[in-house]
Amino acid sequence: MKAALLRNIEDLAVVSVPDPEPEPGELVLQVKACAVCGTDVKVFHHGHKHIVFPRITGHEVSGVISHCGPGITDFHPGERVTVAPAIPCGRCHYCRRGWPTMCDNLKAIGYHYDGGFAQLMKVPAIAVANGCVNRIPDNVSFAQATLAEPLACVINGQRLSQVELGDTVLILGAGPIGCLHAELARATGAGQVILTDILPERLQIASFTGAITVDLSREDILTRVRELTDGRMAERVIVAATSQQAQEKAVELVAKRGSVNFFGGLPKEKPFINLNSNLVHYGEFTIVGTHGSAPRDNRLALTLLASGRIRASAYLTHTFPLEEIHQALQAAESRQGLKVVVTP
Ligand SMILES: [Zn+2]
Ligand SMILES: [Zn+2]
Repeated sequence: MKAALLRNIEDLAVVSVPDPEPEPGELVLQVKACAVCGTDVKVFHHGHKHIVFPRITGHEVSGVISHCGPGITDFHPGERVTVAPAIPCGRCHYCRRGWPTMCDNLKAIGYHYDGGFAQLMKVPAIAVANGCVNRIPDNVSFAQATLAEPLACVINGQRLSQVELGDTVLILGAGPIGCLHAELARATGAGQVILTDILPERLQIASFTGAITVDLSREDILTRVRELTDGRMAERVIVAATSQQAQEKAVELVAKRGSVNFFGGLPKEKPFINLNSNLVHYGEFTIVGTHGSAPRDNRLALTLLASGRIRASAYLTHTFPLEEIHQALQAAESRQGLKVVVTP
């Protein structure tokens, strides 16, 4: 088969590799679509602590089951599925508590295992056994189904943020993740949803979400949020950007007893921020993080995509064949559209 093989940092080539053969309990997918995630771009430039080269990356995958290994009874060749890439072990303290995203032995497709920037992808037995393979509803296309992965992370994040009916939800960063947050908050019944960015062109694209937009290149965010909330500020603030500045600002924008979610991680060489701890003390608000999603969130994401409350087609702005993987990564990095999909 053909695969985009990351042989080293910034050394990516489309080459022929042997077809994966399913072992007992494993599946092999014919990949139909694999979306480019921000982390794929990061991994291309900087590598990753869990990646040993050479590796096929790509973890927002959908496809058709082409082969079932011995012992598979729940799936059949020809079924349309997505794969939740984060694979919990199912046995550690956190898995048994029902918090699979915090699994001590978490493994991931596209990191520990080969991913979806290839014509075929093997799904490890532990992923099949732990519920990571989910059927795609008939009215959701393969490209649309790749959104299940980022949407699952957004679902996990808003659960941690405890978004409630009527809340003002403020999202810093209007990329694909910010837009998914805005649409999910509206679907959940948030009162006002406010989406901000420093790039006006991103806000223009994001207008389909129906959120109130604040252009940080022209407007002062504190003043605007104060106006929009009668001085109370936002019950839920979600930082959907990789930015120290945005995280520091977030604690000034949150209402009393609200929550701030550091949804986007910071670069590992610059993870520290300065925040006014007294704001937390007096405001009694909560700061949470979000790391990935559980297999169940992936199933919820597919249900939401099928319902039309997340307008999947609005996100799919670029498509490239596998041979143009470099252009696909560049398109994602340039932030001109929302999601870039590779169709192997
Ligand atoms: Zn992703
Ligand atoms: Zn575990």
